[in-house]
Parts: sequence; structure tokens; C-alpha cells
Amino acid sequence: MNYDHILVRYGELTLKSGNRKMFVNKLRANIKDRLMPLQGYKVRANRDRMYIDVYEGSDIEEMMTRITSVFGVHSVSPVVRIEKELDVMKEIALQFANEFNDGDTFKIDVRRADKTFEMDTFQLNQALGGHVLENTNNITVDVKQPDHKIKVEVRKDAIYMYNKVLEGAGGLPVGTGGKTLLMLSGGIDSPVAGMEVMKRGVTIEAIHFHSPPYTSEQAKQKVIDLTKQLSYFTGDIKLHIVPFTNLQKQIHKVVEESYTMTSTRRMMLRVTEKVAHNIGAHAIVNGENLGQVASQTLGSMYAINSVTSMPILRPLLTFDKDEIVKKAQAINTFDLSIQPFEDCCTIFTPKNPKTNPKLEKVEYFESNFDFGPLIDEAVENVETITISKHDDIQKEKEEWMDDLL
Ligand code: ATP
Ligand code: MG
Repeated sequence: MNYDHILVRYGELTLKSGNRKMFVNKLRANIKDRLMPLQGYKVRANRDRMYIDVYEGSDIEEMMTRITSVFGVHSVSPVVRIEKELDVMKEIALQFANEFNDGDTFKIDVRRADKTFEMDTFQLNQALGGHVLENTNNITVDVKQPDHKIKVEVRKDAIYMYNKVLEGAGGLPVGTGGKTLLMLSGGIDSPVAGMEVMKRGVTIEAIHFHSPPYTSEQAKQKVIDLTKQLSYFTGDIKLHIVPFTNLQKQIHKVVEESYTMTSTRRMMLRVTEKVAHNIGAHAIVNGENLGQVASQTLGSMYAINSVTSMPILRPLLTFDKDEIVKKAQAINTFDLSIQPFEDCCTIFTPKNPKTNPKLEKVEYFESNFDFGPLIDEAVENVETITISKHDDIQKEKEEWMDDLL
């Protein structure tokens, strides 16, 4: 099929009438970014739809896969644009039908926006449907529940025909909903939590706590790789790596063992809140899931959460583990996450962490030492790396060039 362009529908975007222009511009930029390194596509947008021209040799399948993964895209169709000539329309309808399987049903679905066109909807249905039936063997018409619809839009300038509608990622374009700081651990959950908030249009930066020499370079690299994988969906992401060893050691000196995990989480959160302020984020995101482990009971969340008044978003709070795993597989973070490198929390985890810690108790233990300066020191020594998929794209391009030569 000689497709002319890809039609992108926004869905929910249209509800936000006041901001529509900003939403559409962001979506267009995000789609262009996602289409790199395929390069050179013209993207035209109006208030309801976007059109991406395709050229000879374009890899339409690859383009569609990329576009459908962009948040804010509701659905996508590859479209053929043709002159207003019945013979040409018949021929294209037949080409679509030739791709159906034996026994399938279809329907011609005409929308006649140009009311001056010489044939009405009924006549067009008859003419195109009749032509398809005459020239195929094993397909039939079903107007109520067809397996396929051949959509025909009659507009002023031309006729547009398509029969595929691919579902998009939904949600809102990243960059339209403010900024959050994602606590990224290297486990399965937190990258998925990041994707969930990005789906609502939110931009993320990531923060990771590591405790050298107790945690390895590989553990750090794993988090860098996870961030890069997330950046494929959103563009560049800043990753803040916090040196956490001194704080962890101090916690173990002054806090009773069964409370060290609670205290560790509280210190993480105090550092995270400060970094969030510094970068202008309005909320913190984590991968917590109700009841999964000792630190994620309601009692624990209460004792941990009380160190900050900043909103903490927990998009996975009520998910089942298998739902999270499926999502991690879909965004290609699962295989990275299950690499076996030690996390700072795993190493310092007490044998019997309190599942229902008391706020007064943890506050009492922490009052034995002034943690403020160590927290400030950790924030001052944060290493910030900007992680970009574009480095890979540059490499990819160079490899293509090498192949050509
Ligand atoms: P994950 O798979 O995301 O690690 P988990 O089920 O293993 O989650 P925990 O290890 O209890 O859960 O961590 C809960 C949340 O705390 C994580 O989802 C993450 O947001 C945050 N977190 C834990 N460890 C770190 C870390 N080293 N750096 C940054 N955030 C962390
Ligand atoms: Mg973890």
C-alpha cells in the first residue's frame, strides 16, 4: 500500500481546551523526538489531529510503533490520499480488502465532509463495496460487526482512505504537567512508577542513593541504564546520584537495629526533598506498593512520610506484582532491573525490620544525633548526570554510515 501520511488522534487532549495549543506543540515536539533517528519527517498539526508525511522508503511499521508509544497519542492510522476519482477509490478499497483473511467480514464506512461531491454516501458504499465483492472470493459484508472497516473520508481537497486504527499510549504529552523527582532504586518497581507519572504529562528527574564501597559500580551503572531506557520515551533525564554511605553508617550507630530501615527511608526522603526543592520539583515519586515489604505497610509509610510535607506520589500503590512486571516488560526495564547487583538498602537491611514502626520511637532514636549536617553534606555532594538516548542514536547513525561504506 502506498501510504501518504500517518494520522495521529489526540483523544483526551481535546478536553483541555484552554491549553490545547501548548499541549499540541509539546506533543508534536515529543513525536519528532521519538522519530529520531528516522529523521526528516514533516509533522503538521491542527487542533484535533496531526499528520506525519511519509516518503518513499519510509519504514511505516517502525514509525507507527514509535508514534504509538508517545504519551498523548490516542490512536494512529496510516492513510492513503487519492484524487476524487471513483476508479482510483475502487482500486484502493480492493487493495485493502486483499489483505484480509478468508472468511473475514468488512464494511465500507464513508464520511462525506465535502457535501458537493457528486455521489452520496449510499452510492459510494454500494459502488466500493460492490467492487470489492466482485473481485474477491472469500470475504463478505457485515454492516453491524465487521472484522474490518474501510474508512473513506471525502474532503474538499481529496479522498482519504484507511483501514487500520492502532491504539496509542494515551495519557498526556510529557512536559505539560510540571516536574517530579523519581526515587529510582534499580529494582523492578521504581522505573514503572516513573513511567506512570510521565503518562500524565509530568517531567521527571531521578535520584538514586548509593553507598560505595558497599554498593558496586555495576549497581550504579544499572541505574544509569534504567534511566536511559526511560529517556527513550521522554527525552533527556537528569539523574542525581547521592553518596549515602556516611548517613547509613551513622544510622547504624545510633538507631536500634529493628528501626534502621525506617530511619534509612526517612533520611533518603529528607535528602530527596532538598534536592527536589533545588530542581524546582513539586512532588516526589516512588515505587512503593501497599503491603509488599516491611517498609511498605501503612504504619511504615506514616512513620517515614512524616519527615516531609512535599506530596509523595505512589502510582503503584495498589498494583499487583504481576501487573507491575508486565508493565516493566512492556517498557523494557524488566531485564535490566533483575540484574543481581546489591542495592544500598539490601546491604544494610536489618534481620527483623519493624513492620509497624512507631513514629515516636524512630524520632527518639534519631534525636541521639544531629543528622542535619550529614544530610546537607549528601546534598552538596550529589553527582548529577544528564542521560540522553541521543548518544545511542549518534552511535546508531555512525553504524549505519559504516554499513553503507
Ligand atoms: P523497587 O523495585 O523500585 O526497588 P521495591 O519493591 O524493591 O521497589 P523498596 O526497595 O522497599 O521496594 O523501595 C521502595 C521504593 O523506595 C522504591 O520503589 C524506590 O522508589 C525507593 N528506593 C529504594 N531504594 C532506593 C535507592 N537506593 N535509591 C533511590 N530510591 C530508592
Ligand atoms: Mg528495591
